[in-house]
Formats: sequence, structure tokens, C-alpha cells
Amino acid sequence: MSKSVYFDFKKCEAKALAKLNGEFEEQRSQIPLLVGNYLHSYFESEESHDQFLEEHQKEIYKYGNKEKGIKSDFKVADRMINSLANEDSFNKVYQGEKEVIVTGEIEGINWKGKIDCLNLDRGIFLDLKTVADIHGKYWNESQHQYETFAVHGGYILQMAIYQELIKQTFGKVCQPFIIAVSKQDIPDKAIFSIPQSILDSELESLEMNQDHIANVINGEEKPKRCEKCDYCRSTKELKEITSIMDIQIY
Ligand SMILES: [Zn+2]
Repeated sequence: MSKSVYFDFKKCEAKALAKLNGEFEEQRSQIPLLVGNYLHSYFESEESHDQFLEEHQKEIYKYGNKEKGIKSDFKVADRMINSLANEDSFNKVYQGEKEVIVTGEIEGINWKGKIDCLNLDRGIFLDLKTVADIHGKYWNESQHQYETFAVHGGYILQMAIYQELIKQTFGKVCQPFIIAVSKQDIPDKAIFSIPQSILDSELESLEMNQDHIANVINGEEKPKRCEKCDYCRSTKELKEITSIMDIQIY
């Protein structure tokens, strides 16, 4: 199990299973993901960044041609990089081993994760997040409510999983920090800590939910439909008639 698969199932089991089985493809632009990876590779190492530029010439450069310059999305990414790279406190805190793979077993299920920056001596790990707006509100389709970027991206859950996997891999409890940088014209930035009680309760709820999700993946239990997401809408059947007075608004 990985955070992204688990988090997909938490949002909508039917959609997550369809994605896993290759029956449904997300209609989302790949650009935000590439912008994130562009920034991550920069802070990993010079070689990683050069390799990333080499492998994604078509997506990064205008007409896929280096001479024509980079596309506007990646100019934004460069501004995000600069706003962190020119920061003393960021450079002091973002020290450690980069892109560390951690594995472990949580209540009988195998998990895997990748840590952006791990510093075992200091007992901390850091995760870089590129966000539209650090103080923006993000709509949760299945819960029909607004939430912060951190909840919306499942980042608190992710840090709880990583803390447990680091403990199992290296035998040390480390404190997570999320370093967020925004895609606004003038990038915003912030470092966030997470209270241990919140991390503990995230892990507890994961332990309660993961067996059902594993059973759905194995075909032993049926996936639940949220009836609101794009996948559920695309596979909806008109099975019942609703009174016009009972329309639900979200
Ligand atoms: Zn759904």
C-alpha cells in the first residue's frame, strides 16, 4: 500500500478501484505534477534536475525546444525554487538525505513511502509541497466541504505513515515538517509542524480502514460509490425517481 492508493480509496472506493484496474483515467492535467517534480528534482541534486530536464524536454520547453525557452508553468516553478533557494532558514533546515525509500508493515499490510529529506541525527524529516495557495480553501467533493491544502492533499496522513515507516526502517521516531511553497505570481512559503496527537489519530484511523480497502482491492468486498465524483457520474444509472423537493445541494 502507498499513501496515494490509500488516499484515493478514502475519497471514492469505486473510482480508486477503477483507476487501479485501468478502467478509468483521471481527466486531470499532468502539469501540476510535473511542476512539483521539477521543483523536487532541483532540491534533490543538480544531477537529478538535469536528468529531469533532459527527460521532459517536450513538456518543459516551448515547442519542446531548449532554445525557445521554458513554458510559463515552469517559469512559475523557477520562481518557487528561487523563493526557497534564496532563503537562509530554508537552506539551514532542508539538510539531510534526499528521496529516501522507507518500507514497513502496518497491522499486517505492507507499506512503502519516499521521504523528500530525512535527517536522522536531528530526528526530523521534511516534505516539500507545491500548492496553489497556502491559505486557499479546497473543495472536498465527497465530504462536500472546504478544507485546507494539507487536509485536501492527505498530507497529514502521509506524514503519519512516513513517521511510522521511518521508525520501522531506522528505529527512530522523527518529527515531520511540511514546507509549502505557492504557485502564485509572488510565491508564498511556510514551514508547518504537525501535533503528535493528530499524527497518532491519523494512523489509528488508517489501521481501522485499511483492511476493508485491502479486501476491496482483492475483490472480497464491494467498493462503495460516493455518487458525486467524476467516475461515479460517468457510470451512474437512473434507477430511482427523486421528489423535486428533495434535491440535495452541496
Ligand atoms: Zn465516486
